[in-house]
Amino acid sequence: MNKALEKARELLAERTPLKTDCGKVCGARCCQSMEGEETGMLLFPGEEALYREQDGWTLRETPAGWLAICPGRCRRDERPLACRIFPLLPVIRNGQIRVASDQRAKAVCPLLRQGIRGMDPDFTDAVREAGRMLAEEPESREFLVRMTEEQDEIKALRDKLGGL
Ligand code: SF4
Ligand code: SF4
Repeated sequence: MNKALEKARELLAERTPLKTDCGKVCGARCCQSMEGEETGMLLFPGEEALYREQDGWTLRETPAGWLAICPGRCRRDERPLACRIFPLLPVIRNGQIRVASDQRAKAVCPLLRQGIRGMDPDFTDAVREAGRMLAEEPESREFLVRMTEEQDEIKALRDKLGGL
């Protein structure tokens, strides 16, 4: 695992979207799979090495990168970065790192109804800082660029369908 990724994970080790446990409000919706469906999270480049030998975890290689399927419960210290930053994402716009709501999270996370401003600024700042760290590492930067493009595509599709 590269240093930037290690530091980004550390930065988000304890910070969460709210000072209180938001999982109590929604029943931890982001950790639940639909019946008969295995959902996973996309790992940042290099992160897959941590989950190869991890009991209860499955890795799948996809065109977008490594996908991890978790056991449905986890300790904070084993959580992938995607879960630590959820429901936000660092995106790259005009060469700058910005924090954005993850378009994929809108159907799941009730916090996004209020948007980023309703979240703990310590958390949003940490997501931005993690993005800055990752952008210093070429493979991770490329990954952020691809994610930004994907976010734009999802938003464009949502707008086309009338903001659903
Ligand atoms: S879905 Fe949103 S509110 Fe619920 S636990 Fe996940 S991040 Fe928190
Ligand atoms: S790894 Fe942990 S935080 Fe992420 S979805 Fe699975 S149980 Fe939830």
